[in-house]
Amino acid sequence: MTPDRLDRFARHIVLPEVGAMGQAKLAQSHVVLIGMGGIGSPALQYLAGAGVGRLTLVDDDVVEASNLQRQTIYTEADIGKAKAEAAAAWVKAFDPALEVSVHVLRINRDNAVSLITGADVVLDGCDNFATRLAVSDACVKAGVPLTSAALGRFQGQVANFAGHRAKNGEGHACYRCFVGDAFDAEDCDSCADLGVLGAMVGMVGAFGAMAAMRVLLEGVSALGDPQWGHLHVMDGLKPSLRTMRIARDPECKGCGVPA
Ligand SMILES: [Zn+2]
Repeated sequence: MTPDRLDRFARHIVLPEVGAMGQAKLAQSHVVLIGMGGIGSPALQYLAGAGVGRLTLVDDDVVEASNLQRQTIYTEADIGKAKAEAAAAWVKAFDPALEVSVHVLRINRDNAVSLITGADVVLDGCDNFATRLAVSDACVKAGVPLTSAALGRFQGQVANFAGHRAKNGEGHACYRCFVGDAFDAEDCDSCADLGVLGAMVGMVGAFGAMAAMRVLLEGVSALGDPQWGHLHVMDGLKPSLRTMRIARDPECKGCGVPA
């Protein structure tokens, strides 16, 4: 690392849980972010801040005025622009050393595998189950770990999934093991109907960024304990945090191994 990069990441490098090795790994890592909304915005800010070297941003939406209450990466000047493009512009201004690529499209069953292949982790902060299931199945197929970060009103849910490792007999659950098949057809943006508190979704996004960093640092430094299949559930109203283990579903059509 050059002296200016060492200086930029000095507060990470002195942390024993990250260290110089961890920082170097982050710089070599590639994260695909699905959804550049209320979860994706702070997640991107912290991953870029952490010096994750390569970022791929996927979103088909445009910035609206009603997004600014929680989607921290955008300003009024971005209204009407594609979110993924505006977010990439933010990255380039924030740290020109980071490589950022953009896909202004909706990720689905047909394109998901090609969009995520080769990534070190996918951080899914999108707003609907159908997309989440398509992304999860693609992660299993492409052998890519998945960080899932989601919010329903004041309940946040963050987990790392290694469904691709189920094939190696390790028995890790995938996201589909967790939610089942019932939501494949569901496609709704519930924020508009139910409301969402900006700071609450910000907590979930930041938690998701840290979960993704755990994946990136696996085998490198002490923070690299992905806690596969542990679902962290935040209640923002109390507030409280509890953690539950997601069991692998042997019948799961996402990660199931044909007998
Ligand atoms: Zn599964």
